[in-house]
Amino acid sequence: MIQLRSHREIQKLRYAGLVVWEAHHCVSQRVVECVTTQQLDAVVESVFERFRAVPLFKGVPGKFPFPAVTCISVNEQVVHGIPGPRVLTSGDIVSVDTGCRLDGWCGDSAVTYAVGGVSPGVQELLDVTSGVLQRAITWLGTMSRWSQVAREMATYVRDHGFSVVEDFVGHGIGRQMHEDPEVPNYDSPRFRRRGDFPLRPGLVLAIEPMVNMGTKQVKCLDDAWTQVTLDGAWSAHFEHTVALTEQGPWILTGPPTTAELAWLESYGATPQ
Ligand code: MG
Ligand code: MG
Repeated sequence: MIQLRSHREIQKLRYAGLVVWEAHHCVSQRVVECVTTQQLDAVVESVFERFRAVPLFKGVPGKFPFPAVTCISVNEQVVHGIPGPRVLTSGDIVSVDTGCRLDGWCGDSAVTYAVGGVSPGVQELLDVTSGVLQRAITWLGTMSRWSQVAREMATYVRDHGFSVVEDFVGHGIGRQMHEDPEVPNYDSPRFRRRGDFPLRPGLVLAIEPMVNMGTKQVKCLDDAWTQVTLDGAWSAHFEHTVALTEQGPWILTGPPTTAELAWLESYGATPQ
């Protein structure tokens, strides 16, 4: 069942989203050559500790419980990569996905960073993936059903010569990280029949396009978590938690206002 959230509930979700934004802000300053993915995970863990926020990814059930507070996926890895001793090198792209619960409410967001300089084709992959997320957020405020947004997202990606991953989708978010509805980044007759939903004020969604340079198909590595592209071509992932309000879409994991920055700094956040 899709739950529509009140203004007061959305305000609470915003605080969780701000902590997730702060985590990404701290990570963005540490994504450099020679850093390991587990060092980036530790940066996020320390931000969550500072706010006494509960990490949402650690312990997620699978073949074995997910062991870290972030999913970190490098190059041909699509999502659900496990942070570890891998050292980042110039030219890599690294997706950092994380979420937390603060005061009972959840935030979830992902960013794919370039390590040093990347090739023009890879830069285009990053631009198209972040661009399709930004466009989807705008369309959330102008279209009437999610299937319309999803169709435009897939068209935008395809027009740039890339493919949209279909095996993983976005989701509703609220008191739990994963709530109804499923939020695909592509349209299909099956979705229009069985999963489509109207875009109404109070809706809170984690919108998260995953875009591949080659085939849309993915497979899971032997570690039981990491999803990689079937053809080894590179993949990018961007995600925001977004509320649809009477005034339009509000990016809950987006950057702080001056007043919100003061709130973050009251927990010891680094001034910008
Ligand atoms: Mg996420
Ligand atoms: Mg998510």
